[in-house]
Amino acid sequence: MDKPEKLMVDGKRLDGRAPEELRPLKIVAGILERADGSAYVEMGNNKVFAAVYGPREMHPRHDAKPDMAVLRCRYSMAPFSVDDRKRPGPDRRSMEISKVTREALAPVLFPELYPRSVVDVFIEILQADAGTRTAGINAASVALADAGIPMKDLVASVAVGKVEGTIVLDLTKVEDQYGTTDMPMAIIPRKKVITLLQMDGHLTGEEFSRAIDLAFQGCQKIYEAQRQALKEKYEVRRED
Ligand code: ADP
Repeated sequence: MDKPEKLMVDGKRLDGRAPEELRPLKIVAGILERADGSAYVEMGNNKVFAAVYGPREMHPRHDAKPDMAVLRCRYSMAPFSVDDRKRPGPDRRSMEISKVTREALAPVLFPELYPRSVVDVFIEILQADAGTRTAGINAASVALADAGIPMKDLVASVAVGKVEGTIVLDLTKVEDQYGTTDMPMAIIPRKKVITLLQMDGHLTGEEFSRAIDLAFQGCQKIYEAQRQALKEKYEVRRED
């Protein structure tokens, strides 16, 4: 997309949001029948599925750990998810995102409960508009809970950043591309622990504090929507 003349007009962003507003959020738990747990998430124009399989026997066997489960995450972008067709298959970016996703989710699990096994998390990006790693983490966290895997808490994730001097929440592609700073974060809401923090760009100390506060506020709203999605699934079950 070409650079717009301005990214902020009268304190509002190009999509009409205030700086501290999330994009429209939709979360549905348990939509894939063959997965042990699954979730679908829309964060603005991002559309993301997560599927969880396990705990199950580890293949290849030599990757198994005798005293704990291994969490394996695979983030993958569909070729049709972006404007220019993305070359299918793994690349450096998806390998990095798979790694940071695993590190963002692992602290809420109890790996010692399932020795020698693996929990597989597949994240599929169907439509991308910046913040796909955060949408993927939100979906994966709900999918893990939907799989009935014991968890200390969910993990909620959102990006914050700086656009034309203003700290903003949940950046769109155009804000990510032409703004100054993009800082994806994930947190464990109940403990207020950060499990993902990456930064592309610069912030002053003061801006950094403001950005962290904003991310915590955004994650709290996402957390409520995640819990609501899980509640809705199991309420429907009870009526069956
Ligand atoms: P995130 O999606 O987590 O923000 P990046 O900052 O790497 O991760 O990517 C920002 C956005 O750039 C993506 O959401 C997507 O819209 C776009 N993008 C990423 N990789 C590609 C690609 N290979 N081709 C076209 N667009 C891409």
